[in-house]
Formats: sequence, structure tokens, C-alpha cells
Amino acid sequence: MADYDLFVIGAGSGGVRASRISAAHGARVAVAEEHKVGGTCVIRGCVPKKLLVYGAHFAEDLEDAAMFGWDVPEKRFDWVVLRDNVLAEVDRLEGAYTETLTNHDVEILAERAVLTGPNSVRLASGREISAGRILIATGARPLMPDIPGIEHAISSNEVFHLEQIPERIVIVGGGYIANEFAGIFNQFGTKVTLVNRTDVLLRGYDQQVVDRLMQISVRKGIDFKFHTVIENIERLDSGRLKLTMTGCDDIETDQLLFAVGRVPNTDALGCDAAGIEVAEKGAIKVDADSRTSAESIFAVGDVTNRVQLTPVAIREGQAFADSVFGGKPTRLDYGCIPSAVFSHPPLAGVGLTEGQARNKLGSVKTYTSDFRPMKNVLAGRNERSLYKLVVDGSTDRIVGIHMIGPDAPEIMQAAAIAVKAQLRKEDFDATVALHPTMAEELVLMR
Ligand code: NDP
Repeated sequence: MADYDLFVIGAGSGGVRASRISAAHGARVAVAEEHKVGGTCVIRGCVPKKLLVYGAHFAEDLEDAAMFGWDVPEKRFDWVVLRDNVLAEVDRLEGAYTETLTNHDVEILAERAVLTGPNSVRLASGREISAGRILIATGARPLMPDIPGIEHAISSNEVFHLEQIPERIVIVGGGYIANEFAGIFNQFGTKVTLVNRTDVLLRGYDQQVVDRLMQISVRKGIDFKFHTVIENIERLDSGRLKLTMTGCDDIETDQLLFAVGRVPNTDALGCDAAGIEVAEKGAIKVDADSRTSAESIFAVGDVTNRVQLTPVAIREGQAFADSVFGGKPTRLDYGCIPSAVFSHPPLAGVGLTEGQARNKLGSVKTYTSDFRPMKNVLAGRNERSLYKLVVDGSTDRIVGIHMIGPDAPEIMQAAAIAVKAQLRKEDFDATVALHPTMAEELVLMR
């Protein structure tokens, strides 16, 4: 008999859910974690990032307060207070996740584990363990390109621990992390330059909505350098960094943040020993049941490089546990996954963009609402929101919703249900508006 029914490598979003549910189904489960229970999302991703977004937004809120009658004599921001409060909250959550696992009789092994065969792993301490099934949930890490001087740059791992807020920061990349931290640092008063290898930001999002983010970001003072690549990074005697670039003049900066994607954590994991096939960028190949090319080994979350989002990893972990230990075969439906970028202001999308719909469907209709939220009007903030519905012209079904504006991700979570349920434009039209809200625009587009 094996030591455990299930051995999970990695206690992040996918691994924790799979461990807990498998144990609830009666499996004997152990999980190995070399860093902290909670994984990227809780420890150095979604959660601390969102708290920084809240913290950053006070800069605008305090400015806007004056038109609402509030006298805020002097605003002063203390990074160390915010940083330490956020890190304390992360510690609290790590404790909560650990408690959930132990309450479900999942054994936590706080060390690295590597595969040694289809049913065995070895811990860093040397202990050999056998398991009926193994789940790989090791996540991904920031990609740091091979550039001279790259050791002077930081990634999203380090950004939560800065000693001080930099006067200037250069952020490389045009995706989620780059746009979110461009907004955060800009609100903290840092001079932000975003450097991207093309002129396409947030590929995959509706470009009309992305263009709106760029217009607003430029107005807020964020500088964009497109078709630009960093060739060399040099630490000057002043302590600043000198960046040599193709596509624009050299820049001096205090911090350099790379946000150019994430690579699956499969280095030295023992995939060969276990007979697991690995695809491009080290991603573990899996089938629709998250099974790898080894019968007894499964993989979920970012390590498979399917959709690098926390709720997807959680659903994959749940489907694995229910299928393998719960007697309830379940597969995740990857259609209509809503997503959001917590920029300033945030944007969100679900379903097909207008471009994707035009390529895929015969006839497409779009409806847009371009408006200034009433709070912005009174505050004198010249920042417009944009909502867009993409409709299949032949069936009237709403196939995509795309939004930028305050609270767009909150509104999108509810609106995504309608797209998932394949509701029609006439269902939106038949719904009475909830006034006065921003979200009412969704049912008022004609
Ligand atoms: P993204 O995949 O979002 O964006 C990567 C960006 O870097 C793109 O603009 C890409 O350009 C560019 N890029 C890729 N490779 C290079 C390179 N070698 N040199 C220069 N530029 C390059 O990655 P992030 O790092 O921002 O985030 C990683 C993942 O984490 C996201 O894909 C997302 O799944 C997840 N995430 C989700 C969040 C959320 O849900 N709100 C927040 C943060 C992260 P191009 O478009 O040309 O390929």
C-alpha cells in the first residue's frame, strides 16, 4: 500500500483546492510546499496586488473629495505602512489556508518535492514517498529575459517588498502586471514609463477598451515607449539604473520591473524520471481531465499553461478531486471565462472581442455606451467609461461584454452569467434599469 492516496506538489490555488476536496472525499493526502501555503495568488499576486490597488486609489479619492465638500488639508502617503499592513494580511491568509488544510487532515510538508517515478517523490530532506496518484500544482514564475544586467531588475515577486517608493520606474511588458503596476505606481506619485516590444497592450482584450485605458493612462502622466527593447542594464554610481534601448533614447531610472509573462515551474522537477511530457516553455502537457502522459500523474493550474488565472486553477483542482476521488467525473468548461485588469481605472471582459466575433461569426452587431460616471462629473474628473456589447447578428445572443470604468470587474462578474447562459440582447433590453448606477448602461444600449 502506498504512503498516501494522493501526493500534491505545490500548495497554491489549484493544489490547496485539490488536496482539501480529495481529503474530504476520503483520500489520504499530503502536500509539499517549498515556499508558503497559498501560492502566487495569495502570497505575491492577486491578493496583495488588489490591496495595493485599493491603497493607490485613495490618491484620486482624496483629490475628488473636495468637490464633495470634504476638506483634506494635506495628503501624505506612507508606503511602509501600506506595505507592512498588506504583508501582515498575507501572513494571516497563509495561516488561514494552512488551517483549512490541517482541518481536512491534509499533511503539509514544508519542503521541496521532486518526482522520482510515476508513483514516487523525494523530499529535499531525502525522504522517499510513494503515492497512488500525484498532482503537480507547482505554478509559474516571472520570466526574466537574458539581458546583461538583468540582476538589477525586479519582478512581481519583489515589488511587494520595496524599501521605498521609487521616484521613477520603468515597467517592461504590456500585459496584466505591467498595466496594473503602472497604475499603482502612478497613483503613488512615481514617474512611470511603460516599455513594450510592440504597440499592442493587453493582447486578447477588446482593443477599443484597451485604447481607452491608454488614453486615460497618458492623461494621468504614464509614459509609453512602444516597439522598444532593453538591450543593457547598468547600475550607475548614483545608484540609479541606466537602460540602453533600441527604439528610444537611453533612460535612467530608480527601479526596473519586468512583467513579460510567467513560465511554468517544471525545472528539475523530475518530469523525465516520471515519464511526463513537457511542452513549450516547460508547460506540462495534460488532457481534458488534467492527466499527464503518465497514467497516475495529473497537473493543474499555471504549470499547465492553459489559462493562467486563479479561479481556473481552483476549478481544475476541484474537477480533478471530484473525478478521481469523488466518483463524479467532471471537466472544466473553458468557455466564457471572465477576466479583469485592475488598472486605474480597471477593465474587464468576457466572451468574444469584436475582432474575434467578426472572424468567427457571420454577422456581428456591437452596441457601445461611452459615458462619464456621475461621480467623475461632480468631481470634475474628465475620465469616461466605455461599455461594449458584442452580439451575434443571426441569433441576437450576446457573445461578449467589454468594459472599462470604475468597478468594471465587480459589474462584469454578474454580467458574465448572462453571457455564459447565452442570453440575448432582447433579454438585456427587457431588464429594467437600476438607477442611478453605472451598470444600468448594460440594459440601456440601443
Ligand atoms: P502577460 O502575458 O499578461 O503579458 C506579457 C507582456 O509581455 C505582453 O505585453 C507581451 O507582449 C510581453 N512580452 C512577452 N515576452 C516578452 C519578451 N521576451 N520581451 C519583452 N516583452 C515580452 O504577462 P504578465 O507577466 O503581465 O502576467 C502573467 C500572467 O499572470 C497573465 O497572463 C495572467 O494570466 C496572470 N495575471 C492575471 C491578473 C489578473 O487576472 N488581473 C493579474 C496579473 C497576472 P506580446 O503581447 O507581444 O506577447
